[in-house]
Amino acid sequence: MKVTIECEQCGNKAELTPETVGNHAYVIPKINGNNLTVFETAFEKEVRLSAYSEFIDHLAKAKTKEEVETYLEDEINYNTEAEVKISELRIDCKSCGDYIVLTRFED
Ligand SMILES: [Zn+2]
Repeated sequence: MKVTIECEQCGNKAELTPETVGNHAYVIPKINGNNLTVFETAFEKEVRLSAYSEFIDHLAKAKTKEEVETYLEDEINYNTEAEVKISELRIDCKSCGDYIVLTRFED
C-alpha cells in the first residue's frame, strides 16, 4: 500500500511507501524532501483520575513543588487514564502555499 500526496495547484507531490518490516512509512523525511510539510496537528486529550487514596494522601502531604513533582512522576501512570486522539493533520505545499487539513479520523 502507498499514500500519494499531490498538490492540485502546482503538481508538487510525494509518495509514502513502506520502508521497514511492519510496513512503516517515514512521513517527515519523505514529504520535506518533496517541498511539502506537515504544518500542524491537533489532538484531543482526555485525562481521567482513578486515584488510589495513597496517591491523594502523598500529594496532600507534599510541602514543596519538588515533592509534588516526585509523587507525580512516580505514581501518575498508576492513578490516571489518558486518551489522546488525533483530530487534525494539516499538510502544506511549500512551493505554492496550498494546503489540506485531514480531519474526522473517527466516524
Ligand atoms: Zn503546490
